[in-house]
Amino acid sequence: MATMTPELSVVIPMFNEQDVLPLLVERLRPTLESIGATYEVVAVDDGSKDQTPVLLQRFKREWPQLRVIRLRANAGHQAAISAGLAAARGQWMVTIDADLQDPPEVIADMVKAGREGADVVYGVRTDRTTDTAFKRQTARAFYLLMRRLSGIDAPPDAGDFRLMSRATVEAVNALPEHNRVLRLVVPTLGFPSATVGYRREERAAGESKYPLSKMLKLTLDSITGFSQAPLRLATWFGLVGFVVAAVMLAYALGMKLFGGQVLQGWTSIVAIVAAFAALQLLCLGILGEYIGRIFVAQQDRPSYYVAYDSLNDNS
Ligand code: UDP
Ligand code: MG
Repeated sequence: MATMTPELSVVIPMFNEQDVLPLLVERLRPTLESIGATYEVVAVDDGSKDQTPVLLQRFKREWPQLRVIRLRANAGHQAAISAGLAAARGQWMVTIDADLQDPPEVIADMVKAGREGADVVYGVRTDRTTDTAFKRQTARAFYLLMRRLSGIDAPPDAGDFRLMSRATVEAVNALPEHNRVLRLVVPTLGFPSATVGYRREERAAGESKYPLSKMLKLTLDSITGFSQAPLRLATWFGLVGFVVAAVMLAYALGMKLFGGQVLQGWTSIVAIVAAFAALQLLCLGILGEYIGRIFVAQQDRPSYYVAYDSLNDNS
């Protein structure tokens, strides 16, 4: 590989993508070649357990611009992108999914918009009819929620298909934060940005590597990373509970002292105890989420472990 730093780095996280890899190479390579910039492709193998690493080595032999970084264990989509961004050397960097849902041809438009003066160029899905209804609805709810909770002006329908200048990536790399959600972090950095619309395509092969559990993790990371609203919510619950309790106490005492009649009220007591127990557990859970985040931050362990970087083989 050339020792000169490339103009463009294309960072591709991949987890068990053996089915899609040949199709990706076939489509990505001519596209990048036609842009006419020097480039490197940083394939981040996120601890795949299938033939992905073997195939990558094979493709690398005949594609000198392909660089392979393998993570020792599955670190997750966001961490894999972070690993790629930390290692990439380009003046511009694009992050793109491996499954061809983000059409590589759009990279040319992004580079153009970047050269016209934007530091960040978001790929915005103008048409996501190829995503399942469930995916679209949950994504919509996600952006709405994050906008409400944090006031972050992340372009809706922008995922992690995005071009960033070297300066932007350096700002991202400098963040000490663990469990970063890049699509929310990048807009907060305040670099001049532009958007490029594209049609979200169908996954070219294989299955989604984003089960519900990973979607939930991303959502929790997003909320606890960018908003204290849930903590406040716990405070409000407490205040409302206090008022309700005070009214009930006054009523009960009044009945006892002046009404002369002691209430039966077993059902209502059980209901109230159960409701407040549930609320308390919820608030404890909310606290726990934030304390967990503090815990992870103070441990300061790396979010990923690099097994090897092919750049070190033949530099
Ligand atoms: N991915 C990854 N690590 C993971 C899960 C996903 O690197 O733990 C990669 C995956 O290979 C793909 C991208 O992240 O390149 C987006 O994943 P996917 O297409 O499965 O998500 P979806 O499009 O279904 O949301
Ligand atoms: Mg996909």
